[in-house]
Amino acid sequence: MPAFRSGSSEQVAFLEDLLSAGLLSRTGVHGVYARGADFERARLALDALITRTAAAESPEPLYHPPLFPREQLERNGYLGSFPHLAGTVFSFDGDETAAADQLELASRHEDWSGFQSMTEMVLTPAACYPLYPAVAARGPLPQDGLTLDTGDAYVFRREPSSDPSRMQIFHMREIVRVAGRETVIEWRNLWRARAEELLRGLGLELELDIASDPFFGRTGRLLAAQQRDQELKWELLASVAGEPSAIASSNYHQDHFGEIYDIVTADGEVAHTGCMAFGEERVTLALFSAHGSDLSSWPAGVLAALKL
Ligand code: AMP
Ligand code: ZN
Repeated sequence: MPAFRSGSSEQVAFLEDLLSAGLLSRTGVHGVYARGADFERARLALDALITRTAAAESPEPLYHPPLFPREQLERNGYLGSFPHLAGTVFSFDGDETAAADQLELASRHEDWSGFQSMTEMVLTPAACYPLYPAVAARGPLPQDGLTLDTGDAYVFRREPSSDPSRMQIFHMREIVRVAGRETVIEWRNLWRARAEELLRGLGLELELDIASDPFFGRTGRLLAAQQRDQELKWELLASVAGEPSAIASSNYHQDHFGEIYDIVTADGEVAHTGCMAFGEERVTLALFSAHGSDLSSWPAGVLAALKL
């Protein structure tokens, strides 16, 4: 069983407030919520603000569904680094007797996984992942590389919690750069300022942190230390129910995906990649946490920035 993380009493109380205000509704599974009208209005307004902020670069939209070919997960390193976070899609492939036996177990809510077999699909764990094989299939990059936009993609992470900002399924919006090393590094610095300005413009107090991913196991601790030393990941943290929460993050993968997928620049070098990710539910939660559960009474400047 994956570790269930209890939220603090403030986080649990914040979740209760969100539920009673109709901003979120429970589904019966921790970290899987339905969104009410005002939560969704705020999230979509944020999504549109990200679109306006990125417009100067005219990123190419490439919107993928929340299912990802299993083969890509096996290939891109995720299964090795984050086996504890991955979600897989299994389905029934048996005869009538097996169907009846499965139903019998299911009717008692017992384990019917023995009747399920692996499909070619897993749940998409990060919005940018499907873009790398797609870009590689096009052949060498154009002279200036590519900038892509994932749209507000649903992603899955197996991290059940009663902290509303730790969801199992949520929208991740990423702007992704695939180009030569220098270009990606420069682009990343540009977005560091841009993302901060966007989020401060929404009245959020932010902290910037050099961060690492929750790599699995003992080797994972080493990988996390390396990632931090090389400053490959930074996060912008805002308060949600009194606790700092990473609402946006930027990853520099160096030539990891370029090597795996054989992505080459116009000059024949292995491409580098970087991405700027916004956790849309987390940003929205930070906004409700900072400005209150009544959207119409948020500060005028914030509503104007969101065009609400
Ligand atoms: P990451 O790929 O881990 O850097 O995630 C990108 C962004 O997604 C983070 O900056 C968070 O805002 C958001 N995020 C990550 N994990 C979760 C989660 N369990 N629930 C909600 N949002 C998340
Ligand atoms: Zn990414």
